[in-house]
Amino acid sequence: MSSAVLDFTIPNLGEAKIPSPILMSHSSGDGMADYVLDSTRILFNVATKAGSDGHSVPVDDGTLELAGPRERIYFNPAHVHAAITTCGGICPGLNNVIRAVVRCFWYRYGVRRISGIPYGYQGLLEESSFPIIPLDPDIVDDIQEKGGTILGSSRGGGDQISEIVDSLERMNVNILVAVGGDGTLRGAWDIGEEIKKRGLKISVIGVPKTIDNDLSFIQSSFGFDTAVAQAVPVVRGAHIEARNSINGIGLVKVMGRESGFIAANTSLAQSDVNFCLIPENPFDLEGENGFLVHLKKRILDRGHAVILLAEGAGQNLLPPTAERDASGNVKFQDIGIFLKDRIQAYFKKERIEVNIKYIDPSYIIRSAPADSFDSIYCARLGAHAVHAAMAGKTQALISQWNNKYVHIPIKVAVSRRNHIDLEGTLWRDVLENTRQPYSMAN
Ligand code: ATP
Ligand code: MG
Repeated sequence: MSSAVLDFTIPNLGEAKIPSPILMSHSSGDGMADYVLDSTRILFNVATKAGSDGHSVPVDDGTLELAGPRERIYFNPAHVHAAITTCGGICPGLNNVIRAVVRCFWYRYGVRRISGIPYGYQGLLEESSFPIIPLDPDIVDDIQEKGGTILGSSRGGGDQISEIVDSLERMNVNILVAVGGDGTLRGAWDIGEEIKKRGLKISVIGVPKTIDNDLSFIQSSFGFDTAVAQAVPVVRGAHIEARNSINGIGLVKVMGRESGFIAANTSLAQSDVNFCLIPENPFDLEGENGFLVHLKKRILDRGHAVILLAEGAGQNLLPPTAERDASGNVKFQDIGIFLKDRIQAYFKKERIEVNIKYIDPSYIIRSAPADSFDSIYCARLGAHAVHAAMAGKTQALISQWNNKYVHIPIKVAVSRRNHIDLEGTLWRDVLENTRQPYSMAN
C-alpha cells in the first residue's frame, strides 16, 4: 500500500489489572477463554517483494494489534457506564452492531448500565431534548430484523467537542462506542483528545460505518454487501425496462460520494450494466470521446443501454455549489437528473427517439436490514468493540484486515480514503463486463 511505515500503536487508558470475567463454558470445564495477548499482531501487508538475490521478501509495512478479549481488563464491569451512538447516514447493519455491543457488555462482562445516545453526537449536546435510551438485551432483541438504527442518527454537533465531553463527564460514562463514517471517527478522535486533556479515563471506540466502502484500513465495511445485493434487482429492473422500450435507456444512481465501489461491484454482480460511472473516473459529455457519443453508438448498435451511476460521479460537470450539510459535507447536486436531461436533449438534437427511465434507489438501499454476510460481520465488530473498550483501549476502531479482526488507531484510519484504482484489477474487470471505454474524457 504505502512505503512509509505507519504508527499502528493503540492508545491505552492505563494498565489492565482486573481479571476478565469471561469464561468459556466448554465441557472440560477449565474455564479458559480464548484470550488475545496485546503482543499478538498480524502483518499489515501480507505481500512480498523481490529481494536483492531474486527471492521474495516480506514488505515491512508494520503490524496491527489483534482484536479480541484480554485476560486482564481495565474497567471493573460493576462500575461501568457504557454508551453507544450512531451518527451520519443510515446503513444496513447499524441495529446489528447495537445489538452485539449491548449483548457483549451484558452477557460477557456483566455490565448493567448501557445507554443509547439518541441521534448521534447531537444527543450529547447540552440543549438536546432527546431522552437517553437505556439498553438491555430485551430492548435489542430482534432489532437486527429492522433497517436503520433504533437510536436514530444525525449530522452536525461533532464540532462541539467540549460540550460532548462535559455530557460524558456529567453522565459518568466510562466507555463511548461511536458507530459512524469518516466524520464520526474524526469526531471520536477529537473527543478522545479532549478526554486526554482533561485527564479523564473514558474509552472511545469506533465501529466504522461507510456504505460506500470509502474508508481505508478496512477490508470491506459493513452494509456494503447488503447495498450491492439491494442494487442488483434495481439494475435488473432497469435493464428489463430498457430492453422492452424503443431505444430504452435505464439510468440507475447508487451511493458513492467519493468512491464508486457499490457501482463497480454491482456492475460485476449484474452484468447488464453498459456504462459504470464513478467519481474516480471523470468523463466529458460532449466531444468525440465524450460519454454521449459512446451512448449513441451503443443505442444504434443494440437498441438499449443501462447506465449505473455513483452519486459522486460527474460532479465536475455540474455548476459548483457552496451548500453544506450540518456536518460540513459539500451537498452534491443530483447527477442523475442532470444526466437524464442532458441525454434527452442530446438525442432530441440527433433526432433519435429514446425512452429513458431514471431510478434512484438510495433510500431503499440504505434502509434495508443487513443480509446474512453483514449480520455476521456486524455481530463480530460489535463484540470486538466491547472487548477493546473493556481492556482500556481508546481512540481506536475495529476493523477486519487480512481476514482478522484488528484495532486501528482512529488517527491513522481517517488519514486517507479508499478509492478504486483505475489501473487495478477491480476496475479492469468492470471494464471487461461493461465493455465501456477506459476513458470518456476528451
Ligand atoms: P457518512 O458520511 O458515512 O454518513 P459520517 O460519520 O461521515 O457518515 P457526518 O455527517 O459527516 O457522517 O458526521 C457525523 C458526525 O460527526 C456529525 O455529528 C458531525 O458533526 C461529526 N463530524 C463530522 N466531521 C467532523 C470532523 N472533521 N471533526 C469532528 N466531528 C466531525
Ligand atoms: Mg462521511
